[in-house]
Amino acid sequence: MRLLRIHTDDGLRDAVLADDGWVATLPGTSEAFDPDRWRERAAAATGPAVEFEAVRLAAPLSPGKVVCVGLNYADHAAEGGQQAPAEPILFMKAPDTVVGAHDDVVIPRGGEKTDWEVELGVVIGRTASYLADEAAAMEYVAGYVLVNDVSERHFQLARGGQWDKGKNSATFCPLGPWILTADEVPDPQAIKLGLDVNGEALQDSSTAEMIFGVAHLVHYISQFMTLYPGDVISTGTPAGVGAGQKPPRYLRAGDVLRVWADGLGEQHNQLVAAP
Ligand code: ZN
Repeated sequence: MRLLRIHTDDGLRDAVLADDGWVATLPGTSEAFDPDRWRERAAAATGPAVEFEAVRLAAPLSPGKVVCVGLNYADHAAEGGQQAPAEPILFMKAPDTVVGAHDDVVIPRGGEKTDWEVELGVVIGRTASYLADEAAAMEYVAGYVLVNDVSERHFQLARGGQWDKGKNSATFCPLGPWILTADEVPDPQAIKLGLDVNGEALQDSSTAEMIFGVAHLVHYISQFMTLYPGDVISTGTPAGVGAGQKPPRYLRAGDVLRVWADGLGEQHNQLVAAP
């Protein structure tokens, strides 16, 4: 099932996207992310359907937190001159950086090196704390969602401290267009994903190339923090980011991103300058 949220004249609404390309709007918006409740309401939906192309997309959920994994593809670590990590590198993106799949991405004031990172997002469906083993971890995954971990490299790497400055500018986390529920993803390590800038394909890879897979990450992260329903783990990006180009290239106002993953849809975002 494909879960999404749309802006309507009556406000934000939960919705589901059917195989025929029509979107069924559900009554109301869920307070907390509850995939089972979403499914029940979808089964009972009687509202008018809208063509997907005609809806105004919001992010498909408002995460409690976004836990990001750094350098989780060997080719991306290598393009940055870094060793593949011995265990997952974690950092956080603030939930208020999340925007919809068609929203503008704002280049922050003082930003010089705004960059892109297509990633597989894992949506948590059940509270997970100190999971016993990797085998149990997948039961805590509700679904998958496309993430662009937009990053300002100048802030991230040349302004001191940890990575937070470069990862948390407003609009730096386009999410969606939809959540694909886990029952429709037989193998999360076999999802092709990529990103184009102004029509030029710069990232084109597969989650098969991840160093630490989804089950490992969910189990691992649960040893350090409690994961709650609606939290998102963004699992890292493959090679082909702007900083890895030769010469490096970064985003400018007017650029257009197309971000995609098989089964997870596409994001289309325009870059704009900060007001
Ligand atoms: Zn990332």
